[in-house]
Amino acid sequence: MTVKAFGAYAGDKPLEPMDISRRSVGPHDVGIEIAFCGVCHSDIHQVRAEWAGTLYPCVPGHEIVGRVSAVGAHVTSHKVGDLVGVGCIVDSCKRCDDCSDGLENYCDHMVGTYNGPTPDAPGHTLGGYSQRIVVHERYVLRVSHPEEQLAAVAPLLCAGITTYSPLRHWNVGPGHKVGVVGIGGLGHMGIKLANAMGAHVVAFTTSESKRQAAKALGAHDVVVSRNEDEMAAHTKSLDFILNTVAAPHDLDALFALLKRDGTMTLVGAPATPHPSPEVFSLIMKRRSLAGSMIGGIPETQEMLDFCAEHGIVADIEMIRADGINEAYERMLKGDVKYRFVIDTASLAA
Ligand SMILES: [Zn+2]
Ligand SMILES: [Zn+2]
Repeated sequence: MTVKAFGAYAGDKPLEPMDISRRSVGPHDVGIEIAFCGVCHSDIHQVRAEWAGTLYPCVPGHEIVGRVSAVGAHVTSHKVGDLVGVGCIVDSCKRCDDCSDGLENYCDHMVGTYNGPTPDAPGHTLGGYSQRIVVHERYVLRVSHPEEQLAAVAPLLCAGITTYSPLRHWNVGPGHKVGVVGIGGLGHMGIKLANAMGAHVVAFTTSESKRQAAKALGAHDVVVSRNEDEMAAHTKSLDFILNTVAAPHDLDALFALLKRDGTMTLVGAPATPHPSPEVFSLIMKRRSLAGSMIGGIPETQEMLDFCAEHGIVADIEMIRADGINEAYERMLKGDVKYRFVIDTASLAA
């Protein structure tokens, strides 16, 4: 089936309209009419070949929500008309220890929603900046939010699970004091989720102008990290730090805020490494530095259900597909609160 999409033919070319083909719906497949697709920083890195190995044409987009339009004969978990989501993963080996544990995100053969290997034409996966997608049922999530919130649910599929998974893995909850570093697409979700989990949330930003916005998102305290007195007020007080910043920065200043046995988990992916932290920052209080990448399929479902139950969605700005190049430029300047979402109905025009 031919569908309309928005993508790029080369890393130095803007995104433009294109026709792509989707495979027919196999026995275990779900056909989805895409309603909205969130715009993630990874999309920019991939489509502009800032990460190795971009294949063209490249159609980004891995924060997909829409309605089921067809199901294969063996599909039991979804039916036509259901509201569903697809995140960063559309396939994996389904056999390894990671897949068996529902941690498909760590499978060595995980297939990304775009730029991943597939037998479908053109030989690599094409993402959600498009009208339709066909995905194996295992990687399709149920959405139980009210339909009018659907556009704002889209960013949960990457920004939401990327922050939810580490907060859960490190058992964040009532009685914990949690730092969220960076208030962008990821950080704004981290603040909302950590708050809903019952933690005391301290947001860290380099920008005085984000102080009120961070409070509105659910931060109990906001620290402008350039202010040494404000930083010092939280010394050795945090149980956990979720660090969403994707630019290299000084980790030692943040380690100083962790209590004994505290952990800082990195979810931002800088193009060049952070300066190495002082080993003393770690050994003096048995602190840990960790990383985390998106989340598995069962946990993504758990996150969507948690967000529906707690009324959590992303803060979004809706755009037309042909506004994507301008949206990228604004994202690079940090000029979005906090996620762009493409209305895919604009592809039909
Ligand atoms: Zn993403
Ligand atoms: Zn696997």
